[in-house]
Amino acid sequence: MSQTLFEKIIARQIPADIVYEDDAVLAFRDIHPQAPVHVLIVPKKSIPRIAEAGVGDQNLLGHLLLSAAKVAELVGLKPGGYRLVINNGANGGETVPHLHCHILGGRPMTWPPG
Ligand code: 5GP
Repeated sequence: MSQTLFEKIIARQIPADIVYEDDAVLAFRDIHPQAPVHVLIVPKKSIPRIAEAGVGDQNLLGHLLLSAAKVAELVGLKPGGYRLVINNGANGGETVPHLHCHILGGRPMTWPPG
């Protein structure tokens, strides 16, 4: 099966502005930022989307969320607040089939999302 874009970023086959990495996750700036700060955090394990995650991914998903909070703090978003978003499937707005969490901040967010 062909590699997704994010697998290529994890493998350093295509460049990205990486802001955080550990054994299980990688965080890098979105190429088309939707806010003054827009970072994506992905598990290194190839899970296509949250709907395809299983019970065996429980620890990894907890780690992903806690790491998202850590990255948000690293990039200066903790004082002002931020939004975490996971798009799932076509109606969810997913365009890259590798689970990722958007970290958005630097401006007030509106609700509901468009
Ligand atoms: P999704 O729409 O699947 O939730 O989010 C995919 C995100 O990947 C989009 O926000 C899009 O801007 C971002 N993206 C697409 N191509 C690239 C790329 O080559 N590099 C980076 N850093 N982000 C990308």
